[in-house]
Amino acid sequence: MHLPTQTDIAIIGAGPHALTLAAHLLRKRSQMQEKMVVLDPSGFWMHQWQRLFSMLEISHLRSPAAHQPDPNPQALHQFAKYRASELFSPHDLPGAKLFQDFCQTLVCRWQLQQRVHRALVRQITPLKRGSCLRIGLSGGKSITAQRVVLAMGGGMLNFPTWVNKITTPYPKYKLCHSNEVDLRQLRLQGERVLIVGGGLTSGHLAVGAVARGAQVLLLSRRRLMEKWFDTDPNWLNSSHSQKFVAERDWEARWEMIQQARNGGSVTPDMMAHLRQLEQAGQVALHQRCQVVKAEWRGDRWQVRCQDGAILECDRIWLATGTKLDATQNPLLADVLEEFPTGIVNGLPVLDDHLRWQGCNLFLMGGLAALQIGPTACNLAGARMASDRIVNALTKPSLVRS
Ligand SMILES: Cc1cc2nc3c(=O)[nH]c(=O)nc-3n(C[C@H](O)[C@H](O)[C@H](O)COP(=O)(O)OP(=O)(O)OC[C@H]3O[C@@H](n4cnc5c(N)ncnc54)[C@H](O)[C@@H]3O)c2cc1C
Repeated sequence: MHLPTQTDIAIIGAGPHALTLAAHLLRKRSQMQEKMVVLDPSGFWMHQWQRLFSMLEISHLRSPAAHQPDPNPQALHQFAKYRASELFSPHDLPGAKLFQDFCQTLVCRWQLQQRVHRALVRQITPLKRGSCLRIGLSGGKSITAQRVVLAMGGGMLNFPTWVNKITTPYPKYKLCHSNEVDLRQLRLQGERVLIVGGGLTSGHLAVGAVARGAQVLLLSRRRLMEKWFDTDPNWLNSSHSQKFVAERDWEARWEMIQQARNGGSVTPDMMAHLRQLEQAGQVALHQRCQVVKAEWRGDRWQVRCQDGAILECDRIWLATGTKLDATQNPLLADVLEEFPTGIVNGLPVLDDHLRWQGCNLFLMGGLAALQIGPTACNLAGARMASDRIVNALTKPSLVRS
């Protein structure tokens, strides 16, 4: 479909957050389908999500089946009625293919494929005192929208500081962030791979590398922490979230988010798998350990750790996550300049509807964490964010002109 020059609602990103919003919005007002444009460089729904799951060969989600984009919390369970073997125990964790197929049914039900345009957004500029926004696309085109929702995911790749201090030239593929590692393409027979990070992604990478014949050194800043979910499920019911919402100091909220997420963790079944590989001599766990320096020497890495240990390896993979910082996001530069708002350690202070103060821009995902809480970037957070944004998009009393 041809990209219009004007639209009522523009959603930037076509991942699970955007899909959750679209499903919630259309269930409330199906006629809004025609007033909506979705922009994503892939031109497809769920492309980035599926890409990461395939590249890391992740068999199932970490979150239970209740967390999915449909407004009906039972919808994925109902969809899985004849595919029960794709709900993994002990918490009904949906298989990757089951989840993807389910999301596709939502795309079909709400005829959403035709709403996605293949486009990379480069700039968002408030017009008419923030009542509408111009969205600049790579290639020079632009589109004007009355309301814009930013649902573009995880932020910038996070590289530890020692990476920028590497002075010896090295082949690029020898040091990668986890988002760039495609296990399917690799043969690692006889190689040693150093994986940095203590979250579930480092576990997936370790298992994948061993399956390809590598020996793995898994290095984490602290002891590997075992948890089924990355945030305590109490954040999904009232007790924790009521306390969070009652806290009106944004810095204190930021602290609560850090404490609740408490860094990366691995699931108990992944931990058991890693222990097996450790016993088989295929994985060595270096816990409470930090890299201070890496040098490419000939055809190998030489890595110095804080405790003085020297590790040698063929590749380094960084499972060090992503960094969210509104002040570093080029899409928010014009908005920040025209409508300066409070920023707490990179997170913007939004109104109750996740709207940027003074303009018709809404944020979903981790950037909305000061309002949504520690689950903001997860599927559960997508639902909470959608409830708030949909109200502001549909209730005349809340629409800002
Ligand atoms: C490997 C992995 C597994 C995860 N598993 C779970 C899980 O089981 N349960 C859970 O709750 N959470 C999970 N998460 C966390 C979170 O749910 C996911 O990161 C999820 O993909 C976030 O959805 P999103 O829509 O915000 O981002 P994304 O899926 O990243 O989608 C954002 C989209 O925006 C597009 N985009 C980015 N920049 C632009 C631009 N400038 N212009 C246009 N489009 C743009 C991207 O191309 C992408 O398609 C997982 C995360 C990872 C990395």
